[in-house]
Amino acid sequence: MRYELMLPHQIRTAIAENWPVVLPLGVLEYHGEHMAVGMDTLAVIKTLELYEKEADIVILPSFYYGAASYAVAAPEGSGSVQVGGNQLAPFGEELFYSLLRIGFRNIHAIIHHQTENFAAGMPTDLAFKTAGRQAIFRFLEKERGEGWWGNERMADYYAKQAEGDDPFNWIKGHPLMTPEIIRSYPFDHAGEGETSLMMALCPAAVDMEHFSPEAWYSRSAREASPELGRRGRDFILAHMRKVLGSR
Ligand SMILES: [Zn+2]
Repeated sequence: MRYELMLPHQIRTAIAENWPVVLPLGVLEYHGEHMAVGMDTLAVIKTLELYEKEADIVILPSFYYGAASYAVAAPEGSGSVQVGGNQLAPFGEELFYSLLRIGFRNIHAIIHHQTENFAAGMPTDLAFKTAGRQAIFRFLEKERGEGWWGNERMADYYAKQAEGDDPFNWIKGHPLMTPEIIRSYPFDHAGEGETSLMMALCPAAVDMEHFSPEAWYSRSAREASPELGRRGRDFILAHMRKVLGSR
């Protein structure tokens, strides 16, 4: 369900049944002359909307205003929007803290931007990872008081952690495409892989009439096809079943 359309009784059901609550996280960035600037975020939204048909999840309103950077193109006339990680982290912390206050304990952010480096991290995902951790510490200290971790009730902390059931799992970040997917599907910026995904998921965001072979990173887009994009979509859906499937 889309969060903005939920009634309070539906929100209470989602809390009681521990539905995954998912933030599509992304950027607005120049993706060549043939593709829309929202590509990275649209890829997350469109696959989540497909996954929602088979599972009970809450889709939060998307956050498009991440750190696109100007690595690909200067913003003048290109459309890239850059909000730095140092600005994003405080926003993310407030957002996650609010979601914890509401009662959600199964919160996820999914991102498709610079995620070839997801393990080490890049500014947008790092900012939201930090934000999640900060929000959890703050929430626990408020709810349980200082010394909550040292309290006797926490004696099973390490055992619970081994089962994946500790408070630090309340908020998780995921790349849209895992290293395994990237081994089987072209990962690029505005090239064959991303263009194919948009052709399959959101055709309105691609116009090959405007394709230009000038930039090295998007040259392979001329090979793009909806068929390839549908393969990518299916890899991503399988990954979503894995990371969002368990309650
Ligand atoms: Zn992209």
